[in-house]
Amino acid sequence: MNIHIVTLVLFLIGSTLFAQQKNDSFQTKFVVILVIDGPRFSETYGDSTCRLSPILCDSLRYEGAFYEDFKNNGETYTVPGHAAISTGVYQRISNSGTSLPKNPSLFQYYLRASGENKTDAYIVASKGKLDVLANTENKKWHDQFVATTYCGPNGNGLGYGKDEKTFAKVTELVTSSNAPHIMLINLLAVDVYGHANNWEKYQESITACDVYASNLWQMIQSNPVMKNQTTLFITNDHGRHLDGVRSGFVNHGCRCDGCRHISLLILGPDTPKGLTIQKKGELIDISKTISTILHFDMPTSKGRYLQEAFKP
Ligand SMILES: [Zn+2]
Ligand SMILES: [Zn+2]
Repeated sequence: MNIHIVTLVLFLIGSTLFAQQKNDSFQTKFVVILVIDGPRFSETYGDSTCRLSPILCDSLRYEGAFYEDFKNNGETYTVPGHAAISTGVYQRISNSGTSLPKNPSLFQYYLRASGENKTDAYIVASKGKLDVLANTENKKWHDQFVATTYCGPNGNGLGYGKDEKTFAKVTELVTSSNAPHIMLINLLAVDVYGHANNWEKYQESITACDVYASNLWQMIQSNPVMKNQTTLFITNDHGRHLDGVRSGFVNHGCRCDGCRHISLLILGPDTPKGLTIQKKGELIDISKTISTILHFDMPTSKGRYLQEAFKP
């Protein structure tokens, strides 16, 4: 055989093996990010009795990998926190939904790499202003590969809607045989009742989100398309002031540990069960982790791949 043909054959065998190895390295085909807006760590996993989050803190936590030291190291507001998740970059961005993130999002990178229809990346949010997460100011990416959104009471990017309605949309998508491969969900009640200085309703909303999170995981595992192929990230955009800092639980937005210290729980087929991780993690790491497990590049993300939460 001609030496060139031998070389070509070896090259083809090698690249096929490499491609298989790459495709087989993770079982994850779907990713869901659930953002519970603004609970304080002291009322969730930081409470050793797990009083308000009995499912997440005392049961689901042991089904996956939990980060004890997970932070928002940027601006501790809703839009900046969510933009840090979706773009992998901390930036100063209006919290009123009047400007787009500077950098392209993981949804855009995913849609470009996969060639999928824009309904394959979905943002479902109780807060209408989170509609800005689908697009970017970046000239190369502006209006390109824009995810589908259902944000706010009418799904049109305006106002604040009820979590119940948001979750109905989530249910429709997650029980579908055509479920989106990347989805971000925002639930607002915890934050809204915090701002209203309603301690009772704030606590009740944390418990309601505990149930939503559990139902979401059950629905994922009941959908034959998503079952054992979905990684769920349960996190927050920010916490709230510690008691004694400014108005305490009523507000947030500073650098106190109450505002910065949030949570991340990762559940999925590639994540070991019962893992408590002491290593630091932060919001911008979520995008890099998703791009790694779904095999697309995200060069503008400044986060790191949260390798310790995945099977070697
Ligand atoms: Zn808030
Ligand atoms: Zn604070």
